[in-house]
Amino acid sequence: MTRISVLAMGGTIAMAPVATGGVAPALDAESLVAAIPELAGSGVEITARTLRSLPSPSVGFDDLKALHAAIAAELADGADGVVVTHGTDTLEESAFLLDATVDTPAPVVVTGAMRHPTAAGADGPANLLAAVRTAADTAARDLGVLVVLNDEVHAARHVVKAHTTSPAAFVSPGTGPLGLLVEGAPALRRLAPVRPALPIPANTPRIGLFTISLGDDGEVLRLAAPALDGAVLAAVGGGHVPAAMVPAVAEAAARIPVVLTSRAGAGPVLTGTYGYPGSEIDLLARGVHHGAALHPLKARLLLHLLVADGAAREQVGAVFARYR
Ligand code: ASP
Repeated sequence: MTRISVLAMGGTIAMAPVATGGVAPALDAESLVAAIPELAGSGVEITARTLRSLPSPSVGFDDLKALHAAIAAELADGADGVVVTHGTDTLEESAFLLDATVDTPAPVVVTGAMRHPTAAGADGPANLLAAVRTAADTAARDLGVLVVLNDEVHAARHVVKAHTTSPAAFVSPGTGPLGLLVEGAPALRRLAPVRPALPIPANTPRIGLFTISLGDDGEVLRLAAPALDGAVLAAVGGGHVPAAMVPAVAEAAARIPVVLTSRAGAGPVLTGTYGYPGSEIDLLARGVHHGAALHPLKARLLLHLLVADGAAREQVGAVFARYR
């Protein structure tokens, strides 16, 4: 019998009303599983464990370290796949960090809910059922970490939360989902996982994330840079900053790794189209790393892993190049 381990981290999927108003994490992993009668006769053996009961804005690197260890322990203990339930606000970040660090061909699927369990049309049970079915399917092996919500299967590498309330909030801009669940079964296209996996960090470097906007003169970056171990620029368009910002970027890049991504939200950073001050050609020539096609939030996590691991400059560039 296929065995799937469900690890609960909290989030709306596990929330209940509180006396002070609104909802907050309350339900454990067993209750989430017990709410899905279909699981009982599905031929899948489920084990459920509550690791955290957190709203996802408060999930931190230590929590992800514990989650990483729990996933490894479940797989070592014979689980065929793992499902993580997690708040949706930072789900794309946790899923990406796991994708970059969990070294297994077994399916690891992250899910959550946009509507809490007592709301009409709560999507948690359907999402958890779809996640378990995906994790139990051999077609989901060796695809990297997957994110399943709204009957869609996304690669952690591509997915973002793009709406604050819609049950269809999770999308993969520029690539689309890897597949859909149809009549309860995942139909997936292949995606080679990014390997080798990186070590889970033992320390917590400080990586700044700067969204560049019209009129930015670089002063915020210049003031922050001395306190940073690395920086990610969510630059405009194909990877550009205002000319006035170039000296601050160059100064920072001489001291710490600086990675160029785009705030546009889809598509790769350019390499050889624009040649003006502040363009991608200019910034890359000044030692800024190319952020490939990674979303700025994911680039920040990848740089976090690399800096924590003491990666040399060339290694930073080589690892980011895997995400083209
Ligand atoms: N604020 C909630 C959280 O991220 C939202 C959710 O889970 O959908 O924990």
